[in-house]
Amino acid sequence: MMKARLKGIGMTSQRTRNRLVQRLAGEGIRNQAVLDAMREIPRHIFVDEALASRAYEDTALPIGFGQTLSQPYIVARMTEALLRDGPLRRVLEIGTGSGYQAAILACLVPEVYTVERIGSLSRRARRRFRELGIGNVRLRHCDGKMGWPEQAPFDGIIATAAPHQIPQSLLEQLALDGRLIIPVGGEGLQKLLLITRTHEAYEQEILEPVSFVPMLAGDS
Ligand code: SAH
Repeated sequence: MMKARLKGIGMTSQRTRNRLVQRLAGEGIRNQAVLDAMREIPRHIFVDEALASRAYEDTALPIGFGQTLSQPYIVARMTEALLRDGPLRRVLEIGTGSGYQAAILACLVPEVYTVERIGSLSRRARRRFRELGIGNVRLRHCDGKMGWPEQAPFDGIIATAAPHQIPQSLLEQLALDGRLIIPVGGEGLQKLLLITRTHEAYEQEILEPVSFVPMLAGDS
């Protein structure tokens, strides 16, 4: 019963998932490992059962508490940008949400850390990782603007909620040559930035316009 749910059927089947991956490739996602991860991880497990049949459309989906699981294209784009210059060992995600982005990262990076300010989302994500046998993700319920100092430095940090300005602690928790992918700006429309830490400075590249939920202060 459990196995059948993971595997999916009809609108949640492997065939449907393969079609989505084909579409992402057609839209310009080139990293084969990223495409493979998206073929492997069942996105329908990360949304409410009532929404499962829409899990392989290329759209954002609600996950409760006014939050959303990003559109698959954006998940793929951000993951691809994070890994663009080679493999990373330790990655921190801000905004666990459903856990889907972290599960994709877990296929590609040995150690994934993820923080979430809403306790019940964090607990649900933990259950999903267990159900899928994902053992290399560590979760924490806290305000992600602080990052995760005890586990720093990170080779990569990926934020899936948008602050108005880049939190200083995230910059500080980047390793040398580490990269931060983060949407920055006001409600509704932000710029997706790629920040790379060098010896002297933080270099900034603008990737594309995006729309994420806001990064809020405090936990709840
Ligand atoms: N990566 C998620 C996307 C979730 S939406 C997924 O794959 O499903 C963004 C998430 O960021 C929400 O769950 C929201 O609660 C969380 N968030 C917003 N501000 C935060 C903060 N300061 N610290 C940690 N998480 C935060």
